[in-house]
Formats: sequence, structure tokens, C-alpha cells
Amino acid sequence: MKYRYPSLLALIGFLCGSLAATAQGSFTVGTATANPGQKASGFIEVPAGVDAPTAIPVSVVRGAKPGPVLALVSGAHGTEYASIIAVERLIQALDPAQVAGTVILVPLVNIQSFEQKVPHVNPVDGKSMNRFYPGKPDGTQTERASWLITKQVVERCDYLIDYHGGDLDENLRSYSYWPKTGNAKQDATTHDMVLAFGLDHIIVWSDRPKDPNASRYLDNTANTRGKPAIAVEAGYSGTVQPEDVQALVSGTLSVMRYLKMLPGPATMVEHPVWFGKIDTVASEQPGIFYPLVQRGTYVEPGMKIGYVTDYFGTTIYEAHAPAAGVVLYICGVPSMKKGDTVANIGEITTNP
Ligand SMILES: [Zn+2]
Repeated sequence: MKYRYPSLLALIGFLCGSLAATAQGSFTVGTATANPGQKASGFIEVPAGVDAPTAIPVSVVRGAKPGPVLALVSGAHGTEYASIIAVERLIQALDPAQVAGTVILVPLVNIQSFEQKVPHVNPVDGKSMNRFYPGKPDGTQTERASWLITKQVVERCDYLIDYHGGDLDENLRSYSYWPKTGNAKQDATTHDMVLAFGLDHIIVWSDRPKDPNASRYLDNTANTRGKPAIAVEAGYSGTVQPEDVQALVSGTLSVMRYLKMLPGPATMVEHPVWFGKIDTVASEQPGIFYPLVQRGTYVEPGMKIGYVTDYFGTTIYEAHAPAAGVVLYICGVPSMKKGDTVANIGEITTNP
């Protein structure tokens, strides 16, 4: 008898849980609680620790019909503006009456970066907010925020999209990442998700960390927990081009159709360009950078893609393409330190 109560309670709990899942009860993330057919907004409160507290905005769109939970997260880099504006636009655009399932939208993870116009890192602790997942509850602000996003967003979702773009100094051509994990079922789903998203340049990323406790990146945090996730990039150099925002918004809606969260068929990329290897060209000298090619330019091996002068105009370094490929992004500003990225070049593969 002594052991029957716990198992009976567990059974009742399980039944209630299943019932709640089919009936779509309310769904809470941070301070945002939405009932079926509702949209709610609030904050994921990151308490003070070794440094200051922060509050990350979050919206929950609880569909009128049951379905999966999709998380949309942007602004880990707070000056990749097009991606932030796109998720903000989705918060306004999504109609809970039309949605099957639930969408968690986090439009701006790194508020301090956004407000202070600091690229790449969280100015509070100097850390990239897409390198410290799954985070830890007693770390610096980036680690505490990453921990709460892991617990409240990643662990609660079934699918995830992480939005990025060219940062203030990155002249970037839009592309997405297909994370190839080795898990055939999951890889098939993420393969379809990147095709449904609609960006026709796709990086095959197969060497990501496999350890969920050292997942580093947000999309990889979801993938190592068995939740299909992709990352997408559009926008460049601090601009908010309507076509970049539109590509991210319509790509998201197409993925939602693929996941049967919205009615209608997804629009799949018909002729994707896959990249099997990325070459990073780094400057060997500090100075003033002059690009010679645009984002999206196709380059041949050895082609001069830019150069660096000293502060008196003498050329001290020439950057050359190490292989044939597409310039996915090239430094968009004259500032150049030794070791900084001049360009990322994607090598095309026909066998992704
Ligand atoms: Zn980014």
C-alpha cells in the first residue's frame, strides 16, 4: 500500500498533463501568460547576481487550436537590427485565432547591446550572448540570461529559430544554417525547415558541440535537446532594409505552415546553394580596411578581396580568397585590428 499512492498520483498527474496538452490551457513564459486564442507580453526577469539584473521582453501567442510550440529568438546581438525588427513585426502580425499551437517570441535578448549600440557582445560583461549556452544561474549577466532562456524557452519548445544578421561592421548576404547532427529524423526536419524558410544560401554545419551541457549556441542548445532548430541571418551593417525584414517574416510564416501551425502549404527553396565549408580570412595587420568585393560576390582562389593600409595610406596587408566560393560577409567598416575577420567565404558543395 505504501508504494501505491505515489504511483497512483503519478498516473493522475500524467492524465491531467495529457488532458491539459490537448485542451490547450494557458501558457506562461516569464511574466507573460496567454490563454488559448490570446497573445500576451511580459519579461523574462534575470535577477541581479555578480552584476546588474536585466529583463528580456517575451511574447506568447497561444493559438486557439492545439499544436506544437515554436520559439523565435532574436537580438542576441543587439545591433543586428533587421532580425530584431522582423521578430517584433511577427509579434504584431500573428493572429492567435489562426495559429495551431503556441509561439514564444523573444525579440531582443541583448537589450544593453541595442541601447548602447555595442556590436557582438553584451556590454555588461563583454560576452557574446550566443556563445555561453546553456548558461548558468550564478554566472555573469550573459550566462544567467542564457540559463533562463534554456529553462523557459528552449526546454518548453518543440522547434526553434534563432535570428541573426550582419552586425554593425558586417556587410552580409542573407543565409541560413542547416545543423547536421547525425540524428537522421531530426536532420530531415531541420533540412525541411531551412528549405521552408526560403533563404537560398545555406551553410551545412556539422561540427557543432554534441554535449547538451556545453552547447554554446542557442540553436545547438535546442538541437542537443532533441528539438529541431535552425539559425537564419539577414540584414547588414546596421541597416533595416524592407526586403531583409520581409524575408525573415515570410520565412517564419512558411516554416509555421510546414509545421502545420498555420493553414496552407509552405514555400520551399527549389534551388538551394549549399556551403560545406566556411573560410575565415583574418587580417594580419591593424589599420584601415578597404573592401574590393561585395557581399554575395563569387570569388576565385587567390582573388584579392580587400587590403589594409597603415594610418598614412601605405598598403601593409592584402587579403586574398583562399578558395573558390561566395563572400557571405565582408567587413563593412574601415576599422581593422590584427586578427579581425576580413571576410567569410562559403565553399559550395553539391553533396550537402
Ligand atoms: Zn548574431
